Parts: sequence; structure tokens; C-alpha cells
Amino acid sequence: MARAPALYLDHGSTTPVDPRVLEEMIPCFSIHFGNPSSTIHEYGWYAAELVTIARERVAALIGGRPEEVIFTSGATESNNLALKGTIETLLRSGHSAPRIVSCRTEHRSVLDPLATLAARGCAITYVEVSDEGAIDLAQLRDALRAGASLVTFMAANNEVGTLHPLAEIARAAREAGALVHCDATQAVGKLPIDVALLGVDLLSLTAHKLGGPKGAGALWIRGAVGAAALAALAEGGGQESGLRSGTLNVPGIVGLGKAAELARTELPERRAHLEKLARRFLEVIGASGLRFELNGPLRERLPGNLNLSFAGVESAKLLTALQGKVAFSVSSACQSAASSPPHVLAALGLPEERQRAAFRLGFGMTGTEAEAEQAAGLFVTAVRTLIGKTS
Ligand code: PMP
Repeated sequence: MARAPALYLDHGSTTPVDPRVLEEMIPCFSIHFGNPSSTIHEYGWYAAELVTIARERVAALIGGRPEEVIFTSGATESNNLALKGTIETLLRSGHSAPRIVSCRTEHRSVLDPLATLAARGCAITYVEVSDEGAIDLAQLRDALRAGASLVTFMAANNEVGTLHPLAEIARAAREAGALVHCDATQAVGKLPIDVALLGVDLLSLTAHKLGGPKGAGALWIRGAVGAAALAALAEGGGQESGLRSGTLNVPGIVGLGKAAELARTELPERRAHLEKLARRFLEVIGASGLRFELNGPLRERLPGNLNLSFAGVESAKLLTALQGKVAFSVSSACQSAASSPPHVLAALGLPEERQRAAFRLGFGMTGTEAEAEQAAGLFVTAVRTLIGKTS
């Protein structure tokens, strides 16, 4: 007998492509396959038109202008371009040791470029986070007193769902004369993100977290900062205002554009749906009488994200017990090669045992309340078995 597929509760890692997105992408592989840089015939013109529409849709989702959007291969590349691109320009103009302010709960695609920049002479200050992953604005202002060139904070944490007060961060950073970058990968499509209201200068996003394809993302740059203010990482044909050379991934870009348009028009319903599923899951395990802790904040949390620790139950064991039944994450999939607890939980200073017990759930738009209940029931049974309790 064919086995039912596991319930997918790992939408923080990636999401399925929305059928409406796929529908717009498919003709780009075969019929509208032109290279948008081929400005001398209709194949190129048509592809360029599709890219223009996608650019407008991405800009509309975040309240920016189309010419401020640079297409990339995803948020990892966008983060690298934003951070290394701005600092490289400063270094080239003779700035000897640019200062950057961030925190240790950022994604590896921010922390690793920061480590590279530190090795190149930048001074990096990491402000502390609370045990829920929140930063203290007073401490940020302190860190900025010495001046800074760049400040980078994510909108929503991918592990524990903490939201950073971006508008306040951006205001403080601007007063200190720093540019503000935001990795909005997890928040885009789930929470309202408006670059004008937030006051950020650079913002990274990716398609595959919002019902779009993998391998397509964008970096929004205020005022189309252009090649002068941001050094390119990939040089060559000069596509994307010279900031990201390489033939454009038209199907991916079209998919990102459609996913962005759908996210913009459906945002309130999406948020409500994701919050409802997470709440239902919590209600069921809450009623079980099992002891567990929620990692990250209870309120003001990334919609659809839960990070939990059942007392005395290692998440690796839970993962094995639920293999084939529920697909979820014991740490960020982006760093699943690491066997130690994720750096985010360590930065929160949670006790070792709670870190080892932590697992992450990501509810998605295709999920139902019945599935959330079913998944919670499976967790309760698995935990009871692991702690040797039968009722
Ligand atoms: N930033 C955050 C917060 C993420 O969650 C991820 C994906 N796990 C990334 C960046 C990297 O995105 P991509 O997979 O598009 O490179």
C-alpha cells in the first residue's frame, strides 16, 4: 500500500510553488524563451517585457520603485551583494575601517559575509539579543555612538520568529549616518513590508519562501543606488544596471513577480491563515498536559512560525520518531550539515537541554486546521512514547 506523504510543516525552509505562479512560468521555458538582453528582435523584447512586469510586481509588494529592484539568485546572493557591495565601495574610496552593526541571530548569509568583511578590516559590533531574540534599542544607539557605515538586521528571524523593530532601527542608524540593510526573506509575503515606512536603504528577499520558485530573489536598493554606490560581485555583461551580470533567469523572475503580486493582494488572509494554524497546533499540545516551552516571543511573531522544546525530549529523537509522518526542522535547513544546535538558539542563551530539544515548525498556505491538529496529535504521541508515558 502506498504510504501517505508526511505532513509538510517546514515552510520556513521552502514552500511549494503556487500553481498560479507555475502557470505563468511554464511558457518562459519554451515559447517565451528569449534573452531579455537581445534588444534586436521580438524574442528578446517579449522576455524583457515579462521581466519589466515582474520588476513592477516585486516593487509594488515592498512599496519601492521598479528601477530600484535588482534580480538575483535568492536572498543569499542579495545579502552578499548588499553587504560586500556597499563596503567594497567604501574601501575603494579610501575608507580604512568601516563599522558595521548587526546581531548574532542573523542568517548565515549575513553572518558569513560579515566575518569576511571583518577579515578585511571592518569593525563589526554585534548588539546582544534577549532570550526571545529581541534587541535592545538603547544598546543599539550605544553601539552607533561611535559612528557606523552600515547596519544590518533581519525583519523576522527564520528560527524563532522574532520581529525586529525595523523602523526604529533605521531611524537610529540614519541619525548615525549609516546605511540600513534588511534581510526580509521570511517576513515578505507574511507581514506588511514597506521600504518607505521602514526607512531602510537595502532589502533582500527570495521567491521560494512565498510560493515562488527556488533560485530567484531580489535586492531592493533605495534610489537605484547604482554601480557607483554598490560594487558588483558578478561582473560581465552588465545586466541589472551593472550590479549583477549574467543572463536573467526569466522563468524564475516571472515566478517571483507572480508570487509577489499574489502575496500583495492576499497578505491579510495569508497572515490570518498562518496564525490560525500555529494557534491550533499550540492549543492541541497545550491540552495534552505535556511540558513544553515556546522559543522566541509568544506575541508579535513571524506568522506560521513556531519553535518549541518539549522538556527532556531531544529534537533529533523526535525527528526520527516522526520520520515519514511530519516533515519539520530541528535547525535551519540552510545549515543542516551542522549537528550542533543552531547559532540562533545559542545566541538567545537558552539552556543546553532546551536548545537540544528545540524544533521549528513552519505552517503554510496549503495547510488546513485539520492537518495542524493531526500533526499536533502525532507530536503528542511521539513525545509520550519518548518519555515513556502512555497517557
Ligand atoms: N535569510 C533568511 C532569513 C532565510 O531564512 C534564508 C533561507 N533559509 C536566506 C536568507 C537565504 O535565502 P535563499 O535560500 O534564497 O538563498
